[in-house]
Amino acid sequence: MHCRHVRAVPLHTYRKKSKMNHATIDRSTIEQLVRNAIRANGNSLQSGTPSGSPHDPPGWVGGKPNLRVSISARHCHLTDEHVEILFGRGSVLEPEKDLYQDGFYAAKQTVMVVGPRRRMLPSVRVLGPTRADSQVELALTDSISLGIDAPVRHSGKIDGTPGCVLVGPAGSVQLERGVIRAARHVHMNHSDADHYGVSNGDMMQLKISSSDCSVVFDDVLVRADKAAKLEVHIDTDEGNACHLDAATEVLLRKGDCSCKN
Ligand SMILES: [Zn+2]
Repeated sequence: MHCRHVRAVPLHTYRKKSKMNHATIDRSTIEQLVRNAIRANGNSLQSGTPSGSPHDPPGWVGGKPNLRVSISARHCHLTDEHVEILFGRGSVLEPEKDLYQDGFYAAKQTVMVVGPRRRMLPSVRVLGPTRADSQVELALTDSISLGIDAPVRHSGKIDGTPGCVLVGPAGSVQLERGVIRAARHVHMNHSDADHYGVSNGDMMQLKISSSDCSVVFDDVLVRADKAAKLEVHIDTDEGNACHLDAATEVLLRKGDCSCKN
């Protein structure tokens, strides 16, 4: 995570910064913009969010898709059963912060993730709601420090992946599988997909322009769902490589197979 952000919050977001000339804005306007930004998105960098029309597809602003690129820091998903083992009988996930995608949240709870030879990550955020399989999503740097060779996988595709031990205040769970590096992807609804001329399962390309460290990411999987809002998820290593916090422009485009022989 970048230093400007709270470590405990697993997602943060880049959005195009305002092009306003700060010299012409008075202090109260700036304060209002900051308040709007905080209300809109917790720790977002964005200055004010025009609200979408009720007739727009989810996440659209001003009749157009509104691209976000968010860093998904290490986190885990748990089954109901594992929540009770780790946090005590009768425990449920307690939402702490809503994520941008409706219905998903960062829970108050964290777990310790333990790898071989007692290497561990002491506080890994749990995201809700619960799922059918528990899963730990790490960046490559995390997996190196844990000593687990986590493969790049799309969420839910955990056959043949390594496991780990999860430790909570009430107990521990041995996961036989489920430790992955989450493959980069873009959530979008069907109107977004039409806008870009793509379908669920297609690959796109994301260009992030940053001073001296611009990066083009290929292999951005389209995950289209009618309720989704347009948002790319990359991990902390990917976000740090292009200094997402300081990015000046992000561009998402349809993957071009002509460049691959
Ligand atoms: Zn995602």
